[in-house]
Amino acid sequence: MSGNDINFKMYLWRLQNIPLAHNPKYTTDLAFLAKTAVEKEEENEHFRLFLKHEDGRKVDGIAHRVYEEVNAGVDCTLCGNCCKTLVVNITNDEIKDLSAFLEQPEPQVREKYIEESLAGNCFINSIPCHFLDGTKCSIYTHRFTECRDFPHLHKPGFSERFLGTLLHYGSCPIIYNVVEEVKKELGFIIIG
Ligand code: SF4
Ligand code: SF4
Repeated sequence: MSGNDINFKMYLWRLQNIPLAHNPKYTTDLAFLAKTAVEKEEENEHFRLFLKHEDGRKVDGIAHRVYEEVNAGVDCTLCGNCCKTLVVNITNDEIKDLSAFLEQPEPQVREKYIEESLAGNCFINSIPCHFLDGTKCSIYTHRFTECRDFPHLHKPGFSERFLGTLLHYGSCPIIYNVVEEVKKELGFIIIG
């Protein structure tokens, strides 16, 4: 066996044996987040107005970098809070994909898991989501676009979408930490 093979096996062994954990640098206590969201409501509104006067491209540059750092330090498989709180929209193609993955006929999948609005929009019919197992997604490789995209901080328009982001500030550790880091990097201070 070559040295490279041994190194690769060691690497795999380490990957499998490293306990999952959040980076302690980040705040992940959900009760603390919920409490802080109430306390910082006024501050966050000031920050939303502050963002309107900042260069959007500069803000996006900072927000995207900070998001990558925070995303690497907060382990979603130890949280799963968005899966307990969000309405998850799902497309017809995703329903077909889910049906194939679960090896259940599509009408049965629709009956068990999907609700359809009068306008024809489909969404998962339970909150928490049916597919949440503890804090982990049981269909992770086949989770839906909306699940993959949340919390949408990789997208352009941080400032324009800030109101929507704030809706989850008190329930998503990634959002909370990104917002607090972006405040610091932009030199946002609130007086009084
Ligand atoms: S996206 Fe946010 S709420 Fe969802 S699991 Fe990750 S940290 Fe938790
Ligand atoms: S499908 Fe998975 S990732 Fe999406 S809401 Fe349900 S449990 Fe969460």
